[in-house]
Amino acid sequence: MSFVKGLRCRECGREYPARLLSGCEDCFGPLEVDYNYEGIQAVLSREVLAARPRSMWKYHELLPLENPPVVGLSSGGTPLVRARRLGRALGLDNLYVKNDSVSSPTLSFKDRVTGVAVNKAIEFKLEAVGCASTGNLANSVAANAAAAGIPSFILIPENLEQAKITTTAVFGSRLIAVRGNYDDVNRLCSQIADRHPWGFVNVNLRPYYAEGSKTFGFEIAEDLDWRAPDAIVVPMAGGSLISKLYKGLNELEQLGLLRAPVHTRLFGAQATGCNPITAAVKKGATEIQPVKPNTIAKSLAIGNPADGYYAARMMVKSGGWGEDASDEEIVAGIHLLAETEGIFTETAGGVTIAVTRKLIAQGRLKRDELIVLAITGNGLKTLDAIPVARPEVIEPRLAAFEALIGGKSNVA
Ligand SMILES: *Cc1c(COP(=O)(O)O)cnc(C)c1O
Ligand SMILES: [Zn+2]
Repeated sequence: MSFVKGLRCRECGREYPARLLSGCEDCFGPLEVDYNYEGIQAVLSREVLAARPRSMWKYHELLPLENPPVVGLSSGGTPLVRARRLGRALGLDNLYVKNDSVSSPTLSFKDRVTGVAVNKAIEFKLEAVGCASTGNLANSVAANAAAAGIPSFILIPENLEQAKITTTAVFGSRLIAVRGNYDDVNRLCSQIADRHPWGFVNVNLRPYYAEGSKTFGFEIAEDLDWRAPDAIVVPMAGGSLISKLYKGLNELEQLGLLRAPVHTRLFGAQATGCNPITAAVKKGATEIQPVKPNTIAKSLAIGNPADGYYAARMMVKSGGWGEDASDEEIVAGIHLLAETEGIFTETAGGVTIAVTRKLIAQGRLKRDELIVLAITGNGLKTLDAIPVARPEVIEPRLAAFEALIGGKSNVA
């Protein structure tokens, strides 16, 4: 049973039945899923939700599937970590990390969006699925397609990290590297989707795919006992996650599930080597100037972001801001999170931490505010980005060990 009314164009408002569609046929604007919120309000309460098992599917009334999901059942439900040690290092008293680096099945928040998209492709009885990917999406589409037993065509930029290639190919996908950057790959996927009866999760399944990101916001609010944070720092590639988690928070308010209205300031984070959205915000513009990516944060390397305009507008309107970080600052961010909280994130998480530091220095994040940092991917996939570490080597004798540590048993 579903509460989906259909799709609606974000620009001109034209309505469509819920079918396979990339954008508005009149104005090419992006399409958004529209729901019967009165119907949802009649069945959802904080108590009903609290009684359901932890996973992204506990919010299924607010997701665009007609039937129960058949793959990705374990996705979502990731920890919201009270980050006391990181907070102390940064000078924040009320800091949390939403840790999607441990997402199931493929260790990034993309499991939330492909969970919805691949199940939707199954409902539409599509012959195959595919995507244009900067890496994490490739992993997740490949895994969920394998679990569903449907073929997948994964198109990636040629310069992707080896770890993300291996961890996609292992699922038996057709993995195709394109001589070009992500924006070239994405354009090619649009052309393929026009020609073949396949579902490209971030092209013709995009309106459904994007809804999965709302669950990132739902879970944060529920874990904060049905409150929205004062501020949230989110890494941006196409700008979809930041926009949709905000949509999710606002839906909870509209349904009467929050204890106080949403007042969350949205802070978008990018790498300086690919910062089309944060550059626009800093210039006071919402018009996005495409860039050529050059950064170690490859999962965020989208030079012409599909939702950049909306992300920029929402950040400013919410009272937030956009900021970016250099490759060195990103690596330092990875180390700081690992050493303070025991969480090993990929480059995108390093971007979040590095940008948070800057926002604090700029006075945009305050010590006593309730702040959530979005950690969206796992460090094991971007080992190339950090220096190779070597252990200290000793002979297998106690004396050698004692000599190494200087004979002190108190290491603090
Ligand atoms: C894709 C991705 C993002 C951002 O995604 P958008 O919704 O395109 O802005 C953030 N972090 C990681 C690790 C990603 O893979
Ligand atoms: Zn339109």
